Amino acid sequence: MELAAETNLQQPHVLNVMSSMDHEQLVFCQDNQTGLKAIIGIHNTTLGPALGGTRMWAYERLDDAVEDVLRLSRGMTFKASIAGLNLGGGKAVIIGDARSLKNEALLRRFGKFVQSLNGKYITAEDVGMSTRDMEYIHAETSFVTGLPEHLGGSGDPSPVTAYGVYMGMKASAKFAYGSDSLAGKTVLVQGAGHVGSYLIDNLIKEGAKVKVSDIFEDKIQAITRRQPAVEVVPADQVFTTNMDIFAPCALGGILNNDSLAALRCDIVAGGANNQLKSEKIHGQAMLEKGMVYAPDFLINSGGLINVNGELEGYSKEAAMKKAEFIFDVCGSILTEARDTNTFSGNVAIDFAQRRIDAIAGIRTRG
Ligand code: NAD
Repeated sequence: MELAAETNLQQPHVLNVMSSMDHEQLVFCQDNQTGLKAIIGIHNTTLGPALGGTRMWAYERLDDAVEDVLRLSRGMTFKASIAGLNLGGGKAVIIGDARSLKNEALLRRFGKFVQSLNGKYITAEDVGMSTRDMEYIHAETSFVTGLPEHLGGSGDPSPVTAYGVYMGMKASAKFAYGSDSLAGKTVLVQGAGHVGSYLIDNLIKEGAKVKVSDIFEDKIQAITRRQPAVEVVPADQVFTTNMDIFAPCALGGILNNDSLAALRCDIVAGGANNQLKSEKIHGQAMLEKGMVYAPDFLINSGGLINVNGELEGYSKEAAMKKAEFIFDVCGSILTEARDTNTFSGNVAIDFAQRRIDAIAGIRTRG
């Protein structure tokens, strides 16, 4: 009773949030020697083991990290389902600045925690991580995907993710403009990281006018060297810049009260996870603004398709080909959303949930 009073166990806030979001498990990992502070979120394992990347980010508050891992792992459940994969939804976050705190010892310690879950969670790359980091994690666990190609892995998943985002953007253009061509359209890509850079390659090739924004100067220099035709937009002018299509490829929560008040575009189609700060409030706001929204977890599912290939026998060509399903499914979801006057993100969640419910039904009866 005293312990409960001291540690506030009478108000199990996190468990209530997990319950409202339907999570199975949240694993807090801590190690003084390496300084590791991480959280592994397992949302739903109905369709298979929970697979999702590890993100390393300097969260200001523990609550921010908890919220991120809960939202990201839930998104993975829907992503795996809509992509037709036999995987559940999970994700991990390591708290800290990847540029200064990431090292072999910390990553291997994290790998031991992943191993302790015995395959219920399989990790991969996300923001702040690289294929080299997956190698360190792999030293302690076999439950890791996205390994470098020289270790028999599928390597960086971002080219396939970006290709899927490009497919989703083309489907959105077909829906909004009657043609899937992006030639001449102005596309603003927020985040010139792994996904953003490969997406820009696809867009430039098709003849789109590309604007780009990043908070780090080295990323801007790298993308302007790689694609000199891009126009750089300062990070604080992203939402007031003229554009036809907004492609968020940085972090989540960027579709919020402030950004939506300023943003003028026909389509939002990008690779970032959890783009809406609140699905309910900002989904409704986008519906009212008449913006075409390509559901994030659908159009960025190429990366998951890629790492799933590693579990089944990998071929890059097959992964790319498989990611093309996004064009048709995105078109169907946008059409259903228009016909039912429903936010497209909710239509996509219903679509994904139906498969999970069907399989859960089989398991229950079996
Ligand atoms: P990354 O770390 O390589 O790139 C992210 C970039 O965004 C960085 O260059 C960073 O500096 C920039 N950035 C951060 N905040 C910004 C801001 N406010 N304005 C402008 N730029 C900002 O990560 P990534 O692998 O390219 O992933 C990008 C997004 O796509 C993430 O949300 C990730 O979860 C999602 N995603 C990635 C993959 C994948 O295959 N890599 C798959 C699915 C989803």
